[in-house]
Amino acid sequence: MENATAPLPCDVLVTAAVVVTQNDAREVLRDAALAITDGRVSAVGPRAQLAAVYAPAETLDLGEAMVLPGLINSHGHAAMTLFRGLCDDETLSVWLSQHIWPAEAKLTAEAVRQGTLLACAEMLASGTTCFLDAYFYNDAAVAAAEAAGIRGVICQGVFDMESAGFKSANASLAEGAALADQLAGNDRLRAAVFPHAVYTCRRDTLERCAALARERGLLLSTHAAETARENDDCLNANGKRVIPYLQELGMLSPHTLLAHGVALNESDIALLAASGTSVSHCPKSNMKLASGIAPVQALRRAGVTVGLGTDGPASNNALNLFSEMSFAALLQKVGTGDPTALEAGAVLDMATRDGAAALGWPELGRLAPGAPADLCALDLTRPALRPGLDPVSDTVYAASGGEVVLTMVAGRVLYHDGAFLTFDYEKLRRDVADTAARLTGR
Ligand SMILES: [Zn+2]
Repeated sequence: MENATAPLPCDVLVTAAVVVTQNDAREVLRDAALAITDGRVSAVGPRAQLAAVYAPAETLDLGEAMVLPGLINSHGHAAMTLFRGLCDDETLSVWLSQHIWPAEAKLTAEAVRQGTLLACAEMLASGTTCFLDAYFYNDAAVAAAEAAGIRGVICQGVFDMESAGFKSANASLAEGAALADQLAGNDRLRAAVFPHAVYTCRRDTLERCAALARERGLLLSTHAAETARENDDCLNANGKRVIPYLQELGMLSPHTLLAHGVALNESDIALLAASGTSVSHCPKSNMKLASGIAPVQALRRAGVTVGLGTDGPASNNALNLFSEMSFAALLQKVGTGDPTALEAGAVLDMATRDGAAALGWPELGRLAPGAPADLCALDLTRPALRPGLDPVSDTVYAASGGEVVLTMVAGRVLYHDGAFLTFDYEKLRRDVADTAARLTGR
């Protein structure tokens, strides 16, 4: 390199003991640095090399830390933080119909804003930088995500359950079109369409959701094949299992993301692979509701993109992708009887690159030139991360998420050393306590 070359400007030079890039070569760099300009990574490489080339406006030396791409939560219902602990150890139908739906009937926009912001806090504190949210009061969810500074895919939920107090499908579809207008051109937030499930939406509603997503270039997501019973009921009602039924309705495509995908047979998996449909695997929710073990290994082998999701915090009960990664790996090993199933690197892909692809946002989930500067940093001095022989293994099997010391989205530090830098967390905590008491009577 010529010494006479003028140094390149950059906004921030982040330095750390380890950078897990999740780039195409899956490079793990020691004593490394990232140059960030205008919210994007401009370079990643050895610290000495970048320090010689860049003249940063600011240097962020993270010391004994491991930098990872920000984790991607590809399925959830963020504001259900308000109902965490309301009802555990019940069947899905009892949990929904006797506990969750009655409490949801009392929701307000302000409650959803608070619950979503609490979810954002929990996710940022455990390294998640992008989440999919399917719930009610989208304006409130958007306001919370904007306040937190997090990245997200905000879904318009659609039901045919006016009797249970939900809005009509017509009203929800109109809101979905308005949400797409509202978020058009937003760098951090995107709109999507989320019909709840085949058992809560009529055939024509599902078709209209797919049409809206197609027309507006939005992701289409829905709960699908969460349980064997869902397939039996769909067979009785529609003459087909869930996946062939979705195919018949034109809902399978490279822009479709199915949450759960537990009760899938070989021909279902072949349909998902052939159509380019992605799956969000939610291992803890599936375990807690005894839904079964999703055939993640078989899906990946067939070429289906599989991301990771927490599902709602009322059926998990955490929004922590570090524990989700560990459960995903362990559950496949138990389910297949094969300890080599779903190795650590594959699980980290699911929480980063593959989750990004599943959301239709493939530039996320990696630290590479041009990628948005979304990252988290773990404190490598913590006992659970010593001696640090294999950073990917430590990330998936040893880290709890509590080691996260910094989380950045689009080059902006949102969480640092236990503090939320974009909103008043103490006030939020008080507000949420009052709101949860009002909604649940506890
Ligand atoms: Zn869900």
